[in-house]
Amino acid sequence: MSASFDPQIALLKSALRYAEEYLTAIDEQPVFPGVDALRALDQFDEPLPDAASNASDTLAMLHRIGSPGTVAQVGGRYFGFVDGGALPVGVAARVLADVWDQNTAHYVMSPVAARLEQVCEGWLTDLLGLPEETAAGFVTGTTLANLSGLAAGRNELLRRRGWDVVEDGLYGAPPVPVFVGQDAHAAVRKSLALLGMGDAHTHVVPVDDQGRLDMDSFPPLNEPALVVAQAGNVNSGAFDPFDEICAHTHGAGGWVHIDGAFGLWAAAVPSLAPLVPGISDADSWAVDAHKTLNVPYDCGIVMCRDRGALESAFRASAAYFQWSDERDPMRYTPSMSKRARSVELWAILKSLGREGVVQLIEQLCAHARDFAHQLDVEGFQIHNEVVFNQVIVSCGTDEETKRTLAAIQELGECWCGGSTWHERSVIRVSVCSWSTTQEDIRRSVQAFSKARQLARTH
Ligand SMILES: *Cc1c(COP(=O)(O)O)cnc(C)c1O
Repeated sequence: MSASFDPQIALLKSALRYAEEYLTAIDEQPVFPGVDALRALDQFDEPLPDAASNASDTLAMLHRIGSPGTVAQVGGRYFGFVDGGALPVGVAARVLADVWDQNTAHYVMSPVAARLEQVCEGWLTDLLGLPEETAAGFVTGTTLANLSGLAAGRNELLRRRGWDVVEDGLYGAPPVPVFVGQDAHAAVRKSLALLGMGDAHTHVVPVDDQGRLDMDSFPPLNEPALVVAQAGNVNSGAFDPFDEICAHTHGAGGWVHIDGAFGLWAAAVPSLAPLVPGISDADSWAVDAHKTLNVPYDCGIVMCRDRGALESAFRASAAYFQWSDERDPMRYTPSMSKRARSVELWAILKSLGREGVVQLIEQLCAHARDFAHQLDVEGFQIHNEVVFNQVIVSCGTDEETKRTLAAIQELGECWCGGSTWHERSVIRVSVCSWSTTQEDIRRSVQAFSKARQLARTH
């Protein structure tokens, strides 16, 4: 007799019931867990049980203690980091994909995942207006997507000089000059370090008041360089001048990689075209689907104009590998085994369509402008041009800003993080979820004002 999946089906039904309870109550749950919910997490601290226990009790415990210990990121009033919500069709598709439990290293492990990757590769290339031949690899996030694009670029620049990094390593290789904007994301620095191109060899180009790479400060290039541009400054949301950066870099035979974790999606939106001239002239791009596009975590994508360069960076062989004439997903990523994250990405692109994607992104931008406007009316200071989904806010003094932020986080009505901007303490607002409504913005602005009042009186 074969194994019965009845217990699994029963557990999935329980999970769905818990999911229903969770989503129905999300509006009342504090956006960050309260003291009691955090204390309850101590119940997880027990020695590894010796004996097995009932699976449905385990799931019940996870819901009872775990659900209140979550950050309500899928609700409408979470504006922390640049995190993104999760569109319903993506979550549902993911549940189905989880039941399939596909490993997607090779085509023969999952024809459906390989085909959906191929479809998404074509759709994304089209949607973002990238060169038709662009290849895509599906990874955990933009950190890995940056690593992948930069690996492809570094190796290709060295290959043109007769050096094969996969064969010969980096010892003794001719140095590849690297240029990044002063506001490059920490993930870019991390990737460069992992790739053996550390801080000491990275030239930092100054930025303007919005955090855009300043072309007047970009030194002339007289050899092929690896240049990293940014679509979406992590504080201000600003976009680098891609057309000028690409012309400058390509003039000397270099490679341009764009970190577009949340901002690359602007390239899909006709009304945002003025932000991204020349974005398709780059050589590689990194983007997160789990941020602006609201695909459930985790889903990052590396896109590379030169398919061969991307494949070459990740080449590997073993006697037991099963290459096929179809797409073998592991050709395009550092990982071999990985889950089928193309499933929920496909479901979201299929159900939104081009117009739905445009509408989603325009809605996030409109809410950000509205948020900034209402805060301005309440007497808060706005520090950036709100060109995308990011708003930088402060009160009168750094001290008041810090105390206000602490009070916002404690009130639990909404959640934002802090940062430093031009040497001032600021509050970062990132409007990132499909589920944010005008009412959520209004309630959040009220929470800001109340928090500032608390900060002033205590
Ligand atoms: C979020 C972000 C990253 C890192 O992406 P992960 O998905 O967290 O790995 C890199 N660059 C920018 C601009 C980001 O916003």
